[in-house]
Amino acid sequence: MSSSPQTPVSPDTTPPNITSPNTTSPDLPSPVAAADLRAALGAGSPVLGPDDDGYAAARVIEPGGVEHRPAAVVRPADAEAVAAAVRLARDAGAEISVRSGGHSVFGLGAADGAVMLDLRGLDALELDVDGRTAWAGGGITAGAYSRAAGEHGLATPFGDTGGVGVGGITLGGGIGLLSRSLGMTIDSLLGAEVVTADGEIVRTDADHEPDLFWALRGGGGNFGVVTRFRFALHEVSQVVGGVMLVPATPESVAGIVAAADAAPNGLTAILMVMTAPPMPMIPAEWHGRVVVMANLCWSGPLAEADTALAPLRDVAARAGGALLDGVRPAPYASLLEGGPQGGPVVATGRTFVADGVDEAAAAHLLEQLESSDAMMRAAQLRVLGGAVADIPADATAYAHRAARVVGNVAAVAPDAATARGYAPWVDALADRLRSGDGSYVNFSLDGGLDAARAAYPGATWERLRAVKRRYDPQNLFRGNVNVPPA
Ligand SMILES: Cc1cc2nc3c(=O)[nH]c(=O)nc-3n(C[C@H](O)[C@H](O)[C@H](O)COP(=O)(O)OP(=O)(O)OC[C@H]3O[C@@H](n4cnc5c(N)ncnc54)[C@H](O)[C@@H]3O)c2cc1C
Repeated sequence: MSSSPQTPVSPDTTPPNITSPNTTSPDLPSPVAAADLRAALGAGSPVLGPDDDGYAAARVIEPGGVEHRPAAVVRPADAEAVAAAVRLARDAGAEISVRSGGHSVFGLGAADGAVMLDLRGLDALELDVDGRTAWAGGGITAGAYSRAAGEHGLATPFGDTGGVGVGGITLGGGIGLLSRSLGMTIDSLLGAEVVTADGEIVRTDADHEPDLFWALRGGGGNFGVVTRFRFALHEVSQVVGGVMLVPATPESVAGIVAAADAAPNGLTAILMVMTAPPMPMIPAEWHGRVVVMANLCWSGPLAEADTALAPLRDVAARAGGALLDGVRPAPYASLLEGGPQGGPVVATGRTFVADGVDEAAAAHLLEQLESSDAMMRAAQLRVLGGAVADIPADATAYAHRAARVVGNVAAVAPDAATARGYAPWVDALADRLRSGDGSYVNFSLDGGLDAARAAYPGATWERLRAVKRRYDPQNLFRGNVNVPPA
């Protein structure tokens, strides 16, 4: 199919708003009252307690099935207000949770009885177009950032969904539609302004507090509250992207993974192998049947797009032809505009990394997806390599540079109890697909020690623990996939 300059067809290929199926929660006693925070922060930084108008809406985070009752929701106006709230919470012995885009799949943005720092007001973006750098507030979303940068033909790589917060995606690593061409989000991070556990505002980059800078690039929210990020901007305007939908067979799943892996670095593919949702653009006879929904982005020279995409289209042709091919020229930022429709859902999931997906693994995957009775079940396969693998594994706290695939298996359910019942199925399927124990922290639905060790293996773990001891020895920032201080 030749490319034509239209808006790409891009039904969402991200996992639904997956969350661990927890439910909560009565009010928990907290050592900090909203009134104390209000007095300390002043009128510019609103504080909402459980009895205040707006509290119910303010505490909501994206994932379904999780309902938390923080002691207070704080909306800091600036880094000084964040620092004051951190000091007050620390001195009182209160927990802190940090909410940026609210898309933590694990529901980390809110916690019972905690001081919830809602950073959404910190959404300023300063673009230095000539210098190709940006300062972004810790609460801006990837979509807002990408739209503004896109007006200048520039971009920083984030994920595939505009609603995700720059805060969470960056601190966990950041894998998206530009990963193979420009690397992970952390590979474009130049520096940060951070409120540390002692309530100080610290600037860090490769030359200042370099251990902290290293740990922020993949170590999650363990090291402080990032109030501003400094990013590199890259020239990216028109790309060729969108969704190709292909009948799922062992040959097509393994073939698309292999073709995406062998493609030039300008092509990034995020595959959802899933039961086709009843969307109007999908032929009705395919609704409910297992398909590969390939979210593709070619960010190399436009004239080379069809050549780069040809091997994937050949695989689709061998599987009987693409059911939908919406891959065409489009502004890069428009590819982030889709998002899960229909509100938050409850699901259980398991993340993994793999060297690849061969036909035997693909056949097992399809058998499992076809035989499960979950209302929706999916495996996401993000094909990496490219610029992600060009960075040494110890250069940042994201250690899985060599993994060719970062994946996720998920089952969606109508309620939390049903979702929990699918956990063994999800775990067994992820175990069959994985190579080794690794996992990607931003897709982790588990905050336990094993999950942290899977995200941060070997020397990465030891170094993170040492940095944690230096910057947060009391483990104040523990509402995350936690790295305990050494
Ligand atoms: C629909 C959907 C699509 C996704 N797509 C992608 C994708 O394409 N690529 C990818 O890599 N990931 C993706 N993710 C995963 C996502 O990156 C993580 O869930 C991330 O943590 C969400 O960030 P957030 O700021 O929106 O979340 P929040 O819930 O607001 O924050 C999550 C946690 O991150 C930490 N944090 C966030 N901001 C800050 C800050 N400024 N300072 C300190 N700590 C902070 C805190 O520990 C916080 O609890 C997706 C998730 C969803 C739900």
